[in-house]
Amino acid sequence: MKILPITKLPTPSLHEPSVSVNQTLLATPEIQEFIENMVPTMYANDGIGLAAPQVARNIQICIVGKDAHKTLKKDLVLVNPTFERISRRTNVDTEGCLSVPRVFGKVKRFTDIAVTAWNEKGEKLEFEAHKFFARVIQHEIDHLNGILCVDKATDMYTMTEEEHQASIKEIKKERKNTT
Ligand code: ZN
Repeated sequence: MKILPITKLPTPSLHEPSVSVNQTLLATPEIQEFIENMVPTMYANDGIGLAAPQVARNIQICIVGKDAHKTLKKDLVLVNPTFERISRRTNVDTEGCLSVPRVFGKVKRFTDIAVTAWNEKGEKLEFEAHKFFARVIQHEIDHLNGILCVDKATDMYTMTEEEHQASIKEIKKERKNTT
């Protein structure tokens, strides 16, 4: 496994939609290795999710860290993911992105969604996600459509490196207490 470099703004490919992945491509050792590398890459950068365009490939694959919801036993791999809102509820919360380091802003998201995707083996996944878990998935699917959270965020601010490190520590503590 290796840690891949993160693609950051202003790289134009971050704003380009990703192409879907068919079963044949998904099964290739190259793509399987790419997915295996996405996981340590996400953790090395203290992310809770990572989309393929953030590691220089515009293909419809993203991962969501198991800390995104307490029922997750392992990190989720979502291939060709789509979602539908299943309630009228929305909520606003702060988001950041590994591709836009230290920039944060408030983003409105659907609170309750139903997700359809394949896993890394090409098996169909269908599940519901709510609140923070739903937020992470919507953020990652946006990446696959060439949309970054900073494109829709309000009240944006940039943290200093010190503030950022302190906030990462704080978030890790919180996640430990809730999982
Ligand atoms: Zn992001």
